[in-house]
Amino acid sequence: MARYTDPVCRRCRRIGEKLFLKGERCFTPRCAIEKRRRPPGNAVARRRRSSDWALQLREKQKARFTYGVLESQFRKYFEMARERPGVTGDVLLQLLETRLDNVVFRLSFADSRAQARQLVNHGHFVVNGRRMDIPSYLVKEGDIVSWKRVNETVPEFIQALTDGLPKRPVPLWLRLDAATLKGEVASAPDPSEVDTGIDSRLIVEFYSK
Ligand code: SF4
Repeated sequence: MARYTDPVCRRCRRIGEKLFLKGERCFTPRCAIEKRRRPPGNAVARRRRSSDWALQLREKQKARFTYGVLESQFRKYFEMARERPGVTGDVLLQLLETRLDNVVFRLSFADSRAQARQLVNHGHFVVNGRRMDIPSYLVKEGDIVSWKRVNETVPEFIQALTDGLPKRPVPLWLRLDAATLKGEVASAPDPSEVDTGIDSRLIVEFYSK
């Protein structure tokens, strides 16, 4: 399975803003963006106005890095969004939000999407009672996402991850039952609720050229 291997914080520095890819560390002074705001590399930063294309590319990369999706897969999401009814940019955000790894992150079962992806990969989650280890699986309205055999998994591990749930606000389209460590997909994600700051309109413009 293809995946990113470059240093995670480098992606934030490349985009020029915090993408919150590392969980707790992102909220501390150890965040690389707090320490070095300039882009990676040795080149002396030149001040120049970004072209429209550069802005569109940046937004597309920001979305890819945020959700941890490779270019080919991201392109597929875009094509899926274009074929579905509705505003393409909004549908694209909905598709990205309904990825299982993102849902696990949104339900506060993981500190970052990368951690959520690893937990899903390792088979820690079930969807509607069936084992699901594909991070890109798209959940649907009514699906129930829960920890697999929660009592049989190392209790300290579960405890450490789930202490004080929810650790962050759970979006309205998901319903978290912290006592049973289950989450229900109550509705389709509302694009206006997505807090990633991604301007999907620029992404549509990027791929429409
Ligand atoms: Fe980005 Fe988090 Fe690294 Fe800061 S600590 S640069 S927000 S991934």
